[in-house]
Amino acid sequence: MASITRALRPLSRTTPSVRLATRRPLPSRLPRSAAPAFSTTSHQRDIDLSQLTPTPITLMSETETFLAESVSKFAQEQIAPKVRDMDEAETMDHSIVDQLFEQGLMGIELPEEYGGAGMNFTSAIVAIEELARVDPSVSVMVDVHNTLVNTAILKYGDAQARRTWLPKLTTGTVGSFCLSEPASGSDAFALKTKAEKTADGYKLNGSKMWITNAMESGIFIVFANLNPSAGYKGITAFIIEKGTPGFSIAKKEKKLGIRASSTCVLNFDDVEIPKCNLLGEEGQGYKYAISVLNEGRIGIAAQMTGLALGAWENAARYVWNDRRQFGQLIGNFQGMQHQIAQAYTEIAAARALVYNAARKKEAGQDFVQDAAMAKLYASQVAGRVSGSAVEWMGGMGFVREGIAEKMFRDSKIGAIYEGTSNIQLQTIAKLLQKEYTR
Ligand SMILES: Cc1cc2nc3c(=O)[nH]c(=O)nc-3n(C[C@H](O)[C@H](O)[C@H](O)COP(=O)(O)OP(=O)(O)OC[C@H]3O[C@@H](n4cnc5c(N)ncnc54)[C@H](O)[C@@H]3O)c2cc1C
Repeated sequence: MASITRALRPLSRTTPSVRLATRRPLPSRLPRSAAPAFSTTSHQRDIDLSQLTPTPITLMSETETFLAESVSKFAQEQIAPKVRDMDEAETMDHSIVDQLFEQGLMGIELPEEYGGAGMNFTSAIVAIEELARVDPSVSVMVDVHNTLVNTAILKYGDAQARRTWLPKLTTGTVGSFCLSEPASGSDAFALKTKAEKTADGYKLNGSKMWITNAMESGIFIVFANLNPSAGYKGITAFIIEKGTPGFSIAKKEKKLGIRASSTCVLNFDDVEIPKCNLLGEEGQGYKYAISVLNEGRIGIAAQMTGLALGAWENAARYVWNDRRQFGQLIGNFQGMQHQIAQAYTEIAAARALVYNAARKKEAGQDFVQDAAMAKLYASQVAGRVSGSAVEWMGGMGFVREGIAEKMFRDSKIGAIYEGTSNIQLQTIAKLLQKEYTR
């Protein structure tokens, strides 16, 4: 199968990220999606909306639209048949990981010189959303790899680091972002993993918890404190490769949801790291973590929006096509229709927040509050919609056959990782208070 992002490269070079494209014929290599795209995304390329300023937030460029359609088709054809088995086995199918690389979905924003697709941030958001519509576990693998790991190295690595790690991250090596520890979750910078200087570089001791992709990863960005007396200003980021002596995966967690996504405890016992594996500058790790997590939150918000839509579509098809009670389709009852309409409206609202945050980030505007609001609200919507979808499908929503109950279980993680919902509320309130305090 041809790479999705490679097929789009000529477009991504010529189409500015946010400007809208006028209608052009589809390149013949691009597969069209059988599934209808979410209709709040305008695909009206026959009208030249580029003259309108500002443009609708969820209106995509031609490249982004093609990407959404291609990823949707890929997810339906290649991932959907494996979702249930991967969830039951609590394992990511290796062939799917390989395909993510082949499709160019593991280097969406990275420049072509590193093997990336050279696309914009919104393209990464589009891909994460479309994958989550089918499987939030595959989506979070792509999300962490692109929005946290690739971004951290591209933004903060020096030229040598970028040349060393990025080509690996685009061609077959999965990445993990290792900040949380047993005693530091929301209070992330209270981390205890220690780094000390040695003649050749650094030595690391400590442990990390909840590390996404750990079973599949070959490259780990690890935050450790090089100068605990300086508090969070001692936090430093290092790159550690799988197989480095003293570095081990201690435990794989058994989880409520996103069970195909690996989540592990990592141990570091006198792990020797060469100087060149320092990421950026000593003592700047907390800044790097804050910065990439601010962006990453938009990715999680996109994952939750995609999840909500996937759960909604699955149930909508059932109630409007398959299930009859009292002599008619259950989706004909007004009591059902109002709930279904309410849920779709909430998904559209979540989506507007997600794309607004993404566009603001791309435009170089302050987007921290927007990202927090998008993550908070999209997680709430994902929980509500996937929960309602189980009920709309009755017993069929409750059994482990389709995706309804899985989406409901998967939705819970949105309120926890990359900052819990309380922490998002705290961020939003803090920024609002600053603005409104006389
Ligand atoms: C499946 C999964 C994958 C993950 N992947 C990664 C990863 O790849 N890399 C990584 O570094 N981490 C990862 N994490 C960790 C994740 O970011 C943390 O779980 C999260 O930040 C919350 O930390 P905690 O679990 O320690 O909860 P705690 O911080 O103990 O929070 C527990 C509760 O207390 C509340 N709380 C805490 N402080 C406050 C406060 N000040 N005000 C109000 N309420 C508060 C929280 O909102 C929450 O409801 C992952 C977690 C999970 C479950």
